Amino acid sequence: MRLDKLLANMGYGSRSDVKKILKKGIVQIDETIAKNGKTQVNPKEQEVFVNGEKVEYKEYVYLMMNKPKGVISATEDPVQTSVVDLLEMEDQIFNPFPVGRLDKDTEGLLLLTNDGKLSHEILSPKKKVGKRYWAKIAGEVTKIDVQAFSEGIELDDGYITKPGQLTIVSSGPVSEIELTIMEGKFHQVKRMFRSVGKEVTELKRLQMGNLQLDNTLEPGEYRELTDNELHLLR
Ligand code: URA
Repeated sequence: MRLDKLLANMGYGSRSDVKKILKKGIVQIDETIAKNGKTQVNPKEQEVFVNGEKVEYKEYVYLMMNKPKGVISATEDPVQTSVVDLLEMEDQIFNPFPVGRLDKDTEGLLLLTNDGKLSHEILSPKKKVGKRYWAKIAGEVTKIDVQAFSEGIELDDGYITKPGQLTIVSSGPVSEIELTIMEGKFHQVKRMFRSVGKEVTELKRLQMGNLQLDNTLEPGEYRELTDNELHLLR
């Protein structure tokens, strides 16, 4: 890849900032000073230094966010705040995008990455990656609902969902549940409950595949996945 692109991707500023750095003669590829941004560099085989400090190159970024309510699961939006707007510039440089969507009023586990292959693997229905949600429900959730969810629920458009594993955490006029589903149809959890005459009033995603939300992350906070967590997704 081009040296100027590598430096820009690694947070050394815009292409014109990088040009200035290069002009100063403080960038080295291995032992050689490099002043031309067009110089080709292979970050896997060569070492790049700025001011004698090694540039740690990475191609992909993998972020776990506790998505807060009130922001949309998109990369950008002319009016509304998107989850990418919540990221530091040094992470935005990688052009990450959310892996699947959570509704604006849903919070919880959201992955952001620029790794299209991993995103596809997580979202592909064939891979059957489970998503576990916690929800508050207006209405009494009963064993009848648990049974119905385990058989598949007919949604408002006639689609019959794959079996979902519904667990009652507490039941009453307001219930709390956990639900694991293998699909990601539009508003799926809310529509499943609507089909049995109940309303989701709060929704939070807790888990995707084997990856659990780090419960030390406050809504709006995020961090990089650890190597172990990344393995859990592969
Ligand atoms: N199901 C929903 O209804 N909303 C979400 O945000 C996620 C799953």
